[in-house]
Amino acid sequence: MFLDSLNWRKRFVEETPGDSISGGGPRQVPGACWSKVDPSPVPNPTLRLWSNEMAEMLGIERGGVAFLGGNRIADGMVPFAQRYGGHQFGNWAGQLGDGRAITLGEVDAGEQILELQLKGSGITPYSRFADGKAVLRSSIREFLCSEAMHHLGVPTTRALSLVTTGEDVIRDILYNGNPAPEDGAIVCRIAPSFIRFGSFQIHALDGNRSALEQLARHSVKHHFQGHSIDDDEGILEWTKHIARETALMVAHWMRVGFVHGVMNTDNMSIHGLTIDYGPYGWIEDFDLGWTPNTTDAGMKRYRFGNQADIGGWNMARFLEAISPLMDSPEKLNDVLDVYYHTYEKFHTKMWMDKIGVDNFDEREIGLVSELIALLEGTEIDMTIFFRLLSNIEEPEIEHLKFAFYNIEEVSMKEWEGWLIKWWSGLEGSPNRQKMRETNPKYVLRNWMAQLAIDAAEKGDFNVADELYDLLKLPYDEQPEYEAKWFQKRPEWAKNRVGCSMLSCSS
Ligand code: AMP
Ligand code: MG
Repeated sequence: MFLDSLNWRKRFVEETPGDSISGGGPRQVPGACWSKVDPSPVPNPTLRLWSNEMAEMLGIERGGVAFLGGNRIADGMVPFAQRYGGHQFGNWAGQLGDGRAITLGEVDAGEQILELQLKGSGITPYSRFADGKAVLRSSIREFLCSEAMHHLGVPTTRALSLVTTGEDVIRDILYNGNPAPEDGAIVCRIAPSFIRFGSFQIHALDGNRSALEQLARHSVKHHFQGHSIDDDEGILEWTKHIARETALMVAHWMRVGFVHGVMNTDNMSIHGLTIDYGPYGWIEDFDLGWTPNTTDAGMKRYRFGNQADIGGWNMARFLEAISPLMDSPEKLNDVLDVYYHTYEKFHTKMWMDKIGVDNFDEREIGLVSELIALLEGTEIDMTIFFRLLSNIEEPEIEHLKFAFYNIEEVSMKEWEGWLIKWWSGLEGSPNRQKMRETNPKYVLRNWMAQLAIDAAEKGDFNVADELYDLLKLPYDEQPEYEAKWFQKRPEWAKNRVGCSMLSCSS
């Protein structure tokens, strides 16, 4: 079976208010949750990357490039762009919406109904001043990272395919007056829905209670079974559920060293899924102040160590948006408390797992704080450090040396002190299995994605395929890949665009 024979559903467009006009150029669409719009045809769609797992989940065979490139619409699909707003870098930005994404439809895949969306398939009413297209480099980054995150156990949207379009797209990567043509590409991404915090905010800030309520009813009915928005109690339970899922997602990011880079409220999924892979990055040396996003280099609002607080800030904006549905909106403060408490709980538990501690108390919590301070004060690779720690047989710093960047400059005394304290506290037997399941051996380091991009831009997708396979089993040793991919950042990547810095120009 191919994509076009799937059982397509239209729940979102049938149950929420929409635009009376189809297609058309950028404009304001007050009161709508969506605008119908077809993908723009492309000259030469070529299927380059494919997720077997997602295909299996949908029950389809490899293929369907005409649909995945946006050149054909199958019976049952009702392509639309979603309308939402958002706070960007702390400021309300008004209407944003799917400017370069078009949903093909919702597929009934048996166990669940999934929304399939093309990212980069042309202008929609929400494209504002841009072209609605995406370039190969950012599409590879989204395809590989969303699949890798899934296998790391981090809640995320998924990807089915990457198609190159045969069309040039002009981008000024560093916004410094040097626009250049790049290969265009389209990723087909998948989630239960792409409804965001900003999807609710836009109606609340427009003062449109009716649209807000219809969207909330639709969301609860299909995506939060067992919940209701009929009274304050119901809304509180529903929003607490979202608070917990969001807290869990951010705690996972901290566990694996992922920095989202653009945690604007339009990029926060109501399912607590990592969404909108743009200028994200992976921590190499453990630096809580690091952000990959050049647009955020000044304020570093979305830096690694600030993600939990920003999750809370975003949650507060979401709750404000929901408050018109409440009789006593002040009760929503409790939901914010749930976010912070749950985050603390998940974060502590995950860090205990990272150091192999089963039962913990003040003492062990102190041990983690000390470790974080040490990691911060040393240039050390986060992933390699925790992985080596998971396999250590004796509390000797010698066994961890590979994780350090400048071993000569490190005060070994403090590290040895911590190791011995950790080891003796656990009587020499940390829970290794838990450690190996919590500390990945392989993540999609920025320079690894860049190598896949460099090759793909020359027409070679083998590196991307290899990384896709490697990252399906991130907790396995995979010795055949060790010399190549279990490595610290190479010197060439230190100041390379795409590795140490990324922009939103994707
Ligand atoms: P982001 O920060 O990538 O989530 O994007 C913020 C907003 O800009 C969203 O409304 C996007 O749809 C829109 N946008 C980003 N890139 C493009 C593009 N190339 N064409 C049209 N809209 C875009
Ligand atoms: Mg976005």
